[in-house]
Amino acid sequence: MTALKWGLIGASDIAATRVVDAIRSSGGNVTGVVSGSGGRARAFAERCGLPQSTASLDELLGWDIDAVYISSTNDLHFDQACRALNAGKHVLCEKPLALDTEGAATMVRLAERLGLTLAANHHLPGSPLHVKVRELVAGGAIGTVLSAKIAHAVLLPERLRGWRVGRSTPGSGVILDITCHDASVLNPLLGTPVSVAAQAVQQAGWNTGGPADAAMTVIRYERDGHPPVLAQTHDSFTVGYAPTSLEVHGTAGSITVADAMTQDTQGQVILTTALGSRPVEIDCSEDLYAIGLRAFTNAVNGTGRPTATGLDGLMALKVALAAQESAATGHTVHINHKR
Ligand code: NDP
Repeated sequence: MTALKWGLIGASDIAATRVVDAIRSSGGNVTGVVSGSGGRARAFAERCGLPQSTASLDELLGWDIDAVYISSTNDLHFDQACRALNAGKHVLCEKPLALDTEGAATMVRLAERLGLTLAANHHLPGSPLHVKVRELVAGGAIGTVLSAKIAHAVLLPERLRGWRVGRSTPGSGVILDITCHDASVLNPLLGTPVSVAAQAVQQAGWNTGGPADAAMTVIRYERDGHPPVLAQTHDSFTVGYAPTSLEVHGTAGSITVADAMTQDTQGQVILTTALGSRPVEIDCSEDLYAIGLRAFTNAVNGTGRPTATGLDGLMALKVALAAQESAATGHTVHINHKR
């Protein structure tokens, strides 16, 4: 495997706390970072031990790098990804890939046309917990799947209460932040998401910007030869003491996953059938972002696929945007799958 040389687009919390280490664990080298502010770029480079920093994206794209990791605010992903792809760089882009499906579809097509790897940094579908759930379902362990439930209500840490709850920031709010992640888990498990109904509210006193900070969503999935499946999600920035979880229910059994949606690989999978309940053995020792970076590096080297491809990122975004539209209009929204 050839290790990759990386540039970072965005002097972000997630890059500093998770992804720089994950890149290094994949054997990659981080050359430097671009930020909208030269001072912030320098401070970030110093914090993470990077040789270079700049306030110019063109300068970063001119460095001797193979790939970029984009973790700027959501409104910037589309433009930065297209510029990086056009400069011949492979792109690992944070979710949501873009603010609309046309943007994300354009990114997918551009990467395909240029023969470059585009992936969305959804960390959950590569988790050993979710890989095991997909294996159990595909192997018929719970019979025909009927429904699924995700609990993903958390308390947004104070340090992250900036643009996510900003009134003027395009791409703010809980649905693009968290429902999008739920969809990245449900889509590969349940089939094609065809329609979405959601309600979203503002609850936190500290959410002065006013975008929705809590949402509940119901998604209808379809798959040839199977009955339709209903999936339900609860996503929130406002709940401090609830565990996260995934449940999948079928005609012959149920799977429950405790701590299913966290950034850290903990969790427990329980399979319940007519024979009773039993824990399923899983090795959860590897960091989720390290798993994602290894998969991305393998994909660039032609020996695998990313944890979430660009197309997977587009599909997750379609569900989140449909939830947002449903919450705003009070109608069930049908997802258009023409690219
Ligand atoms: P941050 O708020 O830390 O960073 C986002 C951008 O905000 C940075 O690129 C930076 O811009 C700007 N910024 C950061 N600090 C300051 C500051 N003090 N003053 C002014 N601007 C500042 O965001 P996150 O790391 O929380 O999220 C970044 C992206 O990553 C989002 O798209 C989010 O959805 C995604 N994300 C994904 C996760 C996952 O598990 N896959 C988890 C968390 C986030 P500049 O670069 O110009 O300096």
